Amino acid sequence: MGAGAIFKGEFTRPEPLPAAAVEAAARVMASGRLHRYTAGAGEVASLEREFAASVGARYCLATASGGYALQLALRAHGVAAGDPVLTNAFTLSPVPGAIAAVGAVPVLVETTRDLVIDLDHLAERAAASGARVLMLSHMRGHIVDMAALSARLDALGLALIEDCAHTMGASWGDRPTGTWGAAGCFSTQTYKHVNSGEGGLIVTDDADLMARAVVLSGSYMLFDRHEAAPDASAFADAALDMPNMSGRMDELRAAVLRPQIAALGQAAARWNALHDTVAETLAASSALRLPHRPAAERYVASSIQFMAEGASAEAAERFVAACAARGVAIKWFGSAGPHGYTSRHAHWRWLGAQPLAKTDAVLAGLFDMRLPLAFDTDDARLIGTILAEEAEAVFARAEVAG
Ligand SMILES: *Cc1c(COP(=O)(O)O)cnc(C)c1O
Repeated sequence: MGAGAIFKGEFTRPEPLPAAAVEAAARVMASGRLHRYTAGAGEVASLEREFAASVGARYCLATASGGYALQLALRAHGVAAGDPVLTNAFTLSPVPGAIAAVGAVPVLVETTRDLVIDLDHLAERAAASGARVLMLSHMRGHIVDMAALSARLDALGLALIEDCAHTMGASWGDRPTGTWGAAGCFSTQTYKHVNSGEGGLIVTDDADLMARAVVLSGSYMLFDRHEAAPDASAFADAALDMPNMSGRMDELRAAVLRPQIAALGQAAARWNALHDTVAETLAASSALRLPHRPAAERYVASSIQFMAEGASAEAAERFVAACAARGVAIKWFGSAGPHGYTSRHAHWRWLGAQPLAKTDAVLAGLFDMRLPLAFDTDDARLIGTILAEEAEAVFARAEVAG
């Protein structure tokens, strides 16, 4: 273990909510109007209007969670029980979980060394499975070349639903994630870019898809109270054809989200300053590799990923422990069993094994670290130095020995 400085910050402490959010929450609680349809010009309706505008989408629906938004988008798009749905092998468990929730079957697609979906494997799996839909996960904020992906999807006749749980505020070129396909889904869960404890958002330009989603979410036929939904004529069929699968957002959560959405740009700049500082420090290390991020990828990095390619499990575990001993909490995606937020496809026994040798090789050497906004760039520099020193000590030595 290195003899250098120890970092004292706390990796899992969320920022307090802004004063405007606390005040808005207090107003909602004092009114007693916590259900979205008991409020006149409600917080949820306003949040939907404001979020739709922020990404340039026509329609938006707020939901009870990000995972619920994903399953609702699939169902509203017409995915039915037994349908195969393509998705990234490298993603978080709620994504295959959303596919399973509609009774569909996740078909996992390989991950590249830069942590994005492998387009050639996508074509292979689409042909082999007969899938009509890709649920693309921008996992840990890494965005695949969306122009290249769109061309592939057109050629393959695949519809796109985006999981933007890690890309709120991010875009490929000038076009925000969530607006490239049939629908985009976001999470407002505490460990994402805005914090309402739980919550989700769906955006789309498709009036029929949004009408179905609104009824499915449990609108009790009060869809005329939405401000970012199509007008009543779009609901003629949806109102009769769609079951109520209650999963609405409430006024309290929307109230705390609106000021955070308005300030997302500032938060994004702070996150990226932390990310870029750690990345610069790690770029000097020969023991770790950073995924390549093209200029068109306008990320909002609330975490950072780095790799020790070809590392043994024993060395990876030693690296995590050595960093922890110096106060730096990192996670490893290669462990045999599921831990916290690093569960990976091999742990999803319910889904059945799918051969993904390329993804397995990437995950075996992949590390992940949160970038809490409570940290500043001096913290980020110290963290980067500790990571580089410990990587040098563990992996360079392992190489000599091996
Ligand atoms: C968090 C997350 C979601 C949605 O999660 P909820 O906890 O249901 O809001 C979806 N995809 C990814 C990649 C996530 O990390």
